[in-house]
Amino acid sequence: MSLLSLRGLTKSYDGVRAVDDVSLEVGPGEVRALIGPNGAGKTTLVGLVCGRIAADAGQVVLDGQDITALPAHRRTRLGMAYTFQITSIYARLPVSENVALAARPHMTAGQVPGAVAQVIDQVGLTRYCDALAGDLSYGHQRLVEIAMGLVSAPRLLILDEPTQGLSEVEIAAFKDLIRGMAGRCAILLIEHNMDVVMALAERVTVLSAGALLFEGTPEEVRADPGVQAAYLGAP
Ligand code: ATP
Repeated sequence: MSLLSLRGLTKSYDGVRAVDDVSLEVGPGEVRALIGPNGAGKTTLVGLVCGRIAADAGQVVLDGQDITALPAHRRTRLGMAYTFQITSIYARLPVSENVALAARPHMTAGQVPGAVAQVIDQVGLTRYCDALAGDLSYGHQRLVEIAMGLVSAPRLLILDEPTQGLSEVEIAAFKDLIRGMAGRCAILLIEHNMDVVMALAERVTVLSAGALLFEGTPEEVRADPGVQAAYLGAP
């Protein structure tokens, strides 16, 4: 059974369909990339998935449960976590405290320190544990956010352009991190960097003008003329 099912999701702004009747299925532990040109509706779609945006029509189903009407915080309790393009860390708090804040709603006080230490190690930031988050490089701050997402042991992690603004070295570290998580949680990855998509995604969903244009393996997507015209060939 799919972990995440989207059925006919639709959202319009002022009569313009930002997301137009999109259906897709993501399996447990799958890494799914979501790509498409600027304005294709990717951010709106993940906003609908995580409950930050209310759908006009359609359903969001997580592990068989219809969560379309649930607010975002209820969805996180059901095993959904996300990071967005804009960083959400507290710059004046230590890295460990940022991650602890994300952990507390999901576990007992006694479980927090161990869980925090484990995910900070997983993202490779142990030596920055006590540093103020605001003193870290941009790339390391993005890793702190991923740690904040992972600490709740989500079944679905949504990453909105996680490699934007990262150096090549940081992108390589990000790829290693995601590969190291293989199968442990499903990942919905909005990503403009096609090297990252090709390296990590099992399947790729292509949006164009709000609608689902194509879905397939990275190789199939790369070879599809329609995708090339709509996306890969776009400036
Ligand atoms: P990008 O890659 O540039 O982030 P995207 O694929 O994430 O783009 P969205 O940000 O979801 O695309 O936008 C889809 C469409 O919906 C665009 O035409 C955008 O202008 C419009 N849109 C998005 N949010 C709003 C809003 N709050 N009000 C009005 N229009 C919006």
